[in-house]
Amino acid sequence: MIPLPAPARQPARWQALWREAIRDPRELLEALGLPALASRVSATAQAQFPLRVPRGYVARMRPGDPADPLLRQVLPLDEEDRVVPGFSLDAVGDAAARGSSGLLHKYHGRALLVATGSCAIHCRYCFRRHFPYAEENAAAGGWKPALDYLRAHPSVGEVILSGGDPLSLATAKLAELGDGLRTLPQVRRLRIHSRLPVVLPERIDADFLDWIGALPWPVVLVLHANHANEIDAAVREACAALRARGVHLLNQAVLLRGVNDSVEALEALSEALFDAGVLPYYLHQLDRVQGAAHFEVPEAESLALLAALRARLPGFLVPKLVREVAGEPAKTPL
Ligand SMILES: *Cc1c(COP(=O)(O)O)cnc(C)c1O
Ligand code: SF4
Repeated sequence: MIPLPAPARQPARWQALWREAIRDPRELLEALGLPALASRVSATAQAQFPLRVPRGYVARMRPGDPADPLLRQVLPLDEEDRVVPGFSLDAVGDAAARGSSGLLHKYHGRALLVATGSCAIHCRYCFRRHFPYAEENAAAGGWKPALDYLRAHPSVGEVILSGGDPLSLATAKLAELGDGLRTLPQVRRLRIHSRLPVVLPERIDADFLDWIGALPWPVVLVLHANHANEIDAAVREACAALRARGVHLLNQAVLLRGVNDSVEALEALSEALFDAGVLPYYLHQLDRVQGAAHFEVPEAESLALLAALRARLPGFLVPKLVREVAGEPAKTPL
């Protein structure tokens, strides 16, 4: 018999949804009934770090509301063109720390793997806007330099997959890495930092759940949601499926002007996370990246918000307010 050619691998449904993401600010504003807002879109910002937002995430925005907290996270506005002193291109000093292996080893016992530069959504406040570091990611090197580094550093017991968004890699690619990590006896824990379960919950499909459920180490998945409206039924379903595989779910958020800078918004976020089976972990003071100054909440106000939050919520629903300071051995509590 003539052997049949191997069937071309069907792209997963989430990959199709990712490709169909909205990239044109006008299309987004039309869909929301906000065409007039187009005059405030910055062509410069759009060229530098283009809009990208999955349609399922757009469906959680309030039509007709120019101040929608989800819209604000993704729309390139002309405020981004302002040059503000103190807001730089490399706010967290990663350019110096990132090795050729795509691995950042700044903290004791943990190393962060820049698994890929891709994301399903482009968040305006992100330091990534200045790093098209697709060429410096660990997957591109077939994971080998990263695995070699870890082999030479047996004190690293926790491997953190970050990016970009590591879950934007195909599950087969993640499985390659998992196989590599299994050859390192020191690994005791795998952590994944991802916004995908929130912005494209379809990513948590059967293939992925099979993979993550079969890993030999405890797995911690740190999500990234900034507002309660980001957490809908599909997100809760994805979280429930992950929990059913024994995955520990935490969330990190960024404190953002106009998105979650009120005690009501932060309280609602913590409650929505808990309803989804997720505990708040960090609330980050904004990294001072160029183009993101209009998102900054001054430190004194952040502290007051946290104090108010503490007075309303059980301790386990109050995130730790932190800032990243280059050269420090950990995130710095405020
Ligand atoms: C934030 C970060 C970590 C993780 O820090 P935790 O406090 O353990 O969450 C690890 N490595 C790098 C380089 C980081 O920036
Ligand atoms: S790295 Fe995270 S915060 Fe930055 S653009 Fe990607 S998903 Fe958004």
